Amino acid sequence: MSVATPTRSATLVAAASRALAVAGIFDMNGHVSVRDGDLAYVNAHSASRLSLRPEEVAVVRIADGAEVEHTPPSEMALHLGAYRARPDVGAVVHAHPLFATTFAVAGKPLVCAFNSGAWFGHDVPVFDDPVLVRDEAGGRAVAGVLRERRAALMRGHGVLVVGEDIPSAVAGAILLEDSARRLWHAYAIGEPRRFSQAEIETVRAQTSSPRVIRKWWIDALERAKLAGVLDGIDPATLV
Ligand SMILES: [Zn+2]
Repeated sequence: MSVATPTRSATLVAAASRALAVAGIFDMNGHVSVRDGDLAYVNAHSASRLSLRPEEVAVVRIADGAEVEHTPPSEMALHLGAYRARPDVGAVVHAHPLFATTFAVAGKPLVCAFNSGAWFGHDVPVFDDPVLVRDEAGGRAVAGVLRERRAALMRGHGVLVVGEDIPSAVAGAILLEDSARRLWHAYAIGEPRRFSQAEIETVRAQTSSPRVIRKWWIDALERAKLAGVLDGIDPATLV
């Protein structure tokens, strides 16, 4: 199979990669993928996250990991593990953001104590192994820690965030780091006051509606556009 012209999925991945780089979630590492039938579209291994072009997006078959187009990131197994374990997952983000990763290292739970944390509905679980996830067994192990949740931390390494689609995965990645950054400040002066389960459910329902997720996505794209890194992509076609 050959992807002759960029598909909508490839364009979504390119736009999401640039937006996550502008948001400070991606540096030279980090990857975002979207499920498209039995394929996953993901930023290519060596392409800059800040300028990823749709025609550089790699395509991988989910069932067996076969590389259909270009070379995927070396940790593609993370994405494949999530897609295989979770039919509800339509997009995956893996990155190494500072604050969220710090929590897993410090042994402090990333609890729901801010509205951004309530989006996840639970303490964010930790995959307790800093090794890079480069094989099927590793991808399956991280998916086993993630279970039905929206995010997992990876000790000394990074985070895995999943969503129904690209906008929800991008929103989740930004919200996870936001929650961690706010909690870092709270832990510095005391013990965070956790939301009750009822508070989590109420706030989560308020902040995870399609309308709010669309707002996060529009804002992320607009910030990328204003940063001057959205050349060749019309954000109006992606919302
Ligand atoms: Zn990684």
